[in-house]
Amino acid sequence: MSQHFLLSAAARTLSLAKVMRMSDAAARETFKAIRWASTEGEPVCAKCGCVEAYEIATRQIFKCKGCLAQFSVTSGTIFASRKLPIRDILAAIAIFVNGAKGYSALQLSRDLDVQYKTAFVMAHKIREAIATSREADLLTGIVEIDGAYFGGYVKPANQRKDRVDRRTLNAQSGKRQVVVAMREREGETRTFITKTEREGVALVAANVHRDATVHADEATHWDTLSARYLTKRINHSQAYSLDGACTNQAESFFSRLRRAEFGTHHHVAGKYLSAYAAEMAWREDNRRVANGEQFGMIVGAAMAAPVSRQWKGYWQRAA
Ligand SMILES: [Zn+2]
Repeated sequence: MSQHFLLSAAARTLSLAKVMRMSDAAARETFKAIRWASTEGEPVCAKCGCVEAYEIATRQIFKCKGCLAQFSVTSGTIFASRKLPIRDILAAIAIFVNGAKGYSALQLSRDLDVQYKTAFVMAHKIREAIATSREADLLTGIVEIDGAYFGGYVKPANQRKDRVDRRTLNAQSGKRQVVVAMREREGETRTFITKTEREGVALVAANVHRDATVHADEATHWDTLSARYLTKRINHSQAYSLDGACTNQAESFFSRLRRAEFGTHHHVAGKYLSAYAAEMAWREDNRRVANGEQFGMIVGAAMAAPVSRQWKGYWQRAA
């Protein structure tokens, strides 16, 4: 049996430099090999599953011999009805992979010489493909949980006499959100957005297997988890790690998300916080995976992800 394309040496060593040297035809062949790996790159009709198709080379589309439906290499995927050449999409993914602290749409638009809004939607489609590719199984083993606030920053007044205590409810902007992270030791990081960290308790129950051991800090709302799980608590005012209890891996994830916030996006709050958190969770979990392999993972995820309900025609609707 032939090897799956994503496991081949060609996929593992894909890089931005190689993509930029590719012709658009070569880029299409790469997409085909990844999308239709089981037929060694031969197109499969998404409508009827027929594996025989005419190729209409001038329009870069296929016509199914079974049902006569016309489709392209990206039809039915998150990059359906794309306006950019395939090679630019591959380049966008390669650039995105290289950004360990995330990648801003502004930089991407400069790199690819496309409009900001094109880069913005493309980056969000990549994030959505990543999110779609992640497993939904219950988390097991040792699972660290923690929450951190993002957004809703209230700038202190210039003069001291005008300043208010920003910890009080009235002084807050109402835009502050919590990222709740659950992280398996040596495993997957899963994130959710809530208004308060307390709401994370129910999410832990829904996402963590009963046999798991849960590590959490001293915040009292986590107390109820001990009725359901074997729990280990760490009081951060005393130590960061004591008797095997710690949430240091959850903290490392948050520091990565903070670096993306301060270093790249400057503002990750609001309605896209969930997408940024999931992206950084993926980057954290795959940090030891070679770049070329990460690239292949994202192209594969994009080819497997369905047409985006959120991002398809986004600017046409927004305009
Ligand atoms: Zn068909």
